[in-house]
Amino acid sequence: MAKISWLISKLDSNHSPTSDAPITFARGEVFGWNASGRTVTYAPDAPHAPAFLLHELGHALLGHADYSDDIHLLALERAAWDKAILLAPEYDVAITDELIEESLDTYRDWLHSRSLCPHCNATGVQTGPLHYQCLACHHAWRVNEARTCALRRYETKKRP
Ligand SMILES: [Zn+2]
Ligand SMILES: [Zn+2]
Repeated sequence: MAKISWLISKLDSNHSPTSDAPITFARGEVFGWNASGRTVTYAPDAPHAPAFLLHELGHALLGHADYSDDIHLLALERAAWDKAILLAPEYDVAITDELIEESLDTYRDWLHSRSLCPHCNATGVQTGPLHYQCLACHHAWRVNEARTCALRRYETKKRP
C-alpha cells in the first residue's frame, strides 16, 4: 500500500490540473481509463497494481479514446503496455514480460468470448460499436463496453 500511495502522489503532481497532461486518479474496483473525464481508475489492493496503474497511464498519455473496435483493442492494450514500460523507471515500478503476456492473453480470451454467438457458439463479426452478428445463424447480440482493463480479466486466471 505504501508503494501505491507514493505512486499516486507522484502521479498527481506530475499530472496536476495545471500540468500539460492533467489526469485525475481515482480509486475504484477496477482499472480503467475514461477519456472524456480524463480519469484513471485504479484498484489499490489488486495484484501488480503499480504495473496496471502505469498501463492505464499509458492509455491516457497515448490519448486512447473511450471506444475502439474490438479488433483494434488488442493493439491499444499492447501500446499501453509499451508506454508503461517506458514510464516504469521514473516511477520505480517493475513490469515483466510475463505479466504483460499474461494480461494480453486474458484480454484475447475475453475478446474471443464476446465474439462467440450466444445462440450457436460460432464466431461473429462486429457490426457496430457494441454489436455483433453471427455469420452462421444471423443472431445479433450486444456486448459490454470495453472500458476496464486488467483487473477482472487478470483475476480470472491466477497463477498456481
Ligand atoms: Zn449463431
Ligand atoms: Zn488497457
